[in-house]
Amino acid sequence: MMDDQRPIARRHRQTRVDSASPFRRAWLKPLGRVSLIAGITALLLGTVSLVALWQRPAQVIAMAPAPLQTFIPAPTRAPTPTPTPLPPLVGLVAGHSGGEDPGAICPDGLREVDITTEVAQRAKRMLEARGYRVDILAEFDSRLSATRRDYAPQAFLAIHADSCVYYASGYKVARASNSASPQEDDRLVRCVSSSYAAASQLPFHEGSITTAMTLYHNLMKIHPQSPGAIIELGFLGSDRAILVNQREQLALGIVNGIERFLQGSECR
Ligand SMILES: [Zn+2]
Repeated sequence: MMDDQRPIARRHRQTRVDSASPFRRAWLKPLGRVSLIAGITALLLGTVSLVALWQRPAQVIAMAPAPLQTFIPAPTRAPTPTPTPLPPLVGLVAGHSGGEDPGAICPDGLREVDITTEVAQRAKRMLEARGYRVDILAEFDSRLSATRRDYAPQAFLAIHADSCVYYASGYKVARASNSASPQEDDRLVRCVSSSYAAASQLPFHEGSITTAMTLYHNLMKIHPQSPGAIIELGFLGSDRAILVNQREQLALGIVNGIERFLQGSECR
């Protein structure tokens, strides 16, 4: 018999297997299942790994850091240049200049227009030296129009002088009676009046402010909001020594008054 003829060693091994204990068979069977599951799992993992490796280049590209870009700072908005405000404009009328009427004339030929023109020019130089813009206007200046009223200085002063008489002395300052901004005009009158009195040592000639001053035509021709006034420097008769010889002082009084006004002083 074949079985009987099996080598002893083989038979012996068979016997050993067959004669394996029930306990050993009990754990060998689950071990096989575990091995099968482990194998399938390894196969799956291997497949997944292969797929992962196959996709890796794309991932690498996708995960690669973005190329360094040269840092370009956001352009800073250039600060808007603040326009430099123009210095205040002062308009000075050299009374009776630029026309046929020289104003008051004394018997010896002293003319009002000569005094007003020189005082206005001196005042202009002083104001410009202090940083203001200054226009000297003629009595009937094309920049002044009752219909346009578009000449708008920050301060306007018409410069005149009184008649060649000896019974009166002193200066006068007035604003338009129909002023659109009487408070500012009054402040300008106060500033010019007090500074002019200090510089000229002339008294204020009270009681002789006429409609020739309060209805002065050029005060009706400047911009309604422009502060304006008219000054009578003194009488060509009684005050002629000062009007002829102290023109720098007279101009200084006007300039100081206008500057105090422009600087906002109440001049009380
Ligand atoms: Zn005059």
